[in-house]
Amino acid sequence: MYQIDIMTLFDETVGDMMNESILGRAQERDFIRIEAHQIRDYTLNKQKQVDDYPYGGGRGAVMQADPLYQCWKHIVDAYGPGHTIYLSPCGTTFTQADAKRLKDDYDHLILVCGHYEGIDQRFIDECVDEEISLGDFVLTGGELPAMAVADAVARLVPGVLPDPECFENESHYNGMLEYPQYSRPEVWHGRSVPPILLSGHHANIALWRRKQSILRTRQRRPDLYEKLDLSSKQDKKLLQELDSD
Ligand code: SAM
Repeated sequence: MYQIDIMTLFDETVGDMMNESILGRAQERDFIRIEAHQIRDYTLNKQKQVDDYPYGGGRGAVMQADPLYQCWKHIVDAYGPGHTIYLSPCGTTFTQADAKRLKDDYDHLILVCGHYEGIDQRFIDECVDEEISLGDFVLTGGELPAMAVADAVARLVPGVLPDPECFENESHYNGMLEYPQYSRPEVWHGRSVPPILLSGHHANIALWRRKQSILRTRQRRPDLYEKLDLSSKQDKKLLQELDSD
């Protein structure tokens, strides 16, 4: 079973989110286990205070190393060592390739959510294996990034989704953006579903979808498009068609 432990100041909120829908059902069926741990439970003071002023001055508070360490140690003692990730705007930006790497290379992740001005560097130096950022912006806490990482990794674990095809055709898995999707009714607000999708001709539908993926990636993400290998005979033909459309 793939296990993800999340160290947070908001264990109930995180636990509730991670127990919903697909991830909730995957936990009931023992494909994954996601547990949120309240860092405050590992303080030694009555107020359950986990933060203090920053050495050197400045505004705000910093999460202290020891409550983080005690919480982390509790997880490691209970469940064994885990690849430990601090969610941080100073980390490397998370991608689908990271989600796949984390799923392939580990079976236990420990995700550390910071708050306030961040966490004491000494905990990072002692316990953290890598730092991951959700993007070039700053949030108030690491919970949303931790849940995003947990979700992106968990849905790649075999059994969580009904079929690998569910994610293999999706945006970013193969370096492309996904084609447009449609559902019933056939006409909505005067807008019709592309007729090819109603044809029942699976090979032609697959070609149309690939062409749309190529087009979207070219239009919206030239950085991804540049890296695509479109040298197959079929892709060359689709490119010719796109250029003449
Ligand atoms: N003082 C920090 C800085 O300038 O880098 C920002 C601290 S932020 C207000 C509080 C916490 O939110 C961080 O410790 C981190 O866990 C989380 N966080 C904020 N932005 C994030 C991002 N882009 N990616 C991942 N985690 C983030």
